[in-house]
Amino acid sequence: MTRKWIDCRDYPDDIGCTLYLSGEEDHVLRAAAEHAASVHGKQDTPELRDQLRSMLKDENGDVARLRRGAPSLPRREEVEK
Ligand SMILES: [Zn+2]
Repeated sequence: MTRKWIDCRDYPDDIGCTLYLSGEEDHVLRAAAEHAASVHGKQDTPELRDQLRSMLKDENGDVARLRRGAPSLPRREEVEK
């Protein structure tokens, strides 16, 4: 099963929260809803959970994105020694 993740840093607010959650969708969703309620002062409602669900990202997709951003050429100063 694909794991999902959500990163509070993608949704900056006044408290500058840096929490990162990762796991199966139901688990992340529950933890995120409880976190949003206890830390961000949200109401833990079905609407909040729908909103959070739409914010979850596919963990595999993120790995692919990171790989695309990785440097693919050797650094010149290392080659010319
Ligand atoms: Zn947070």
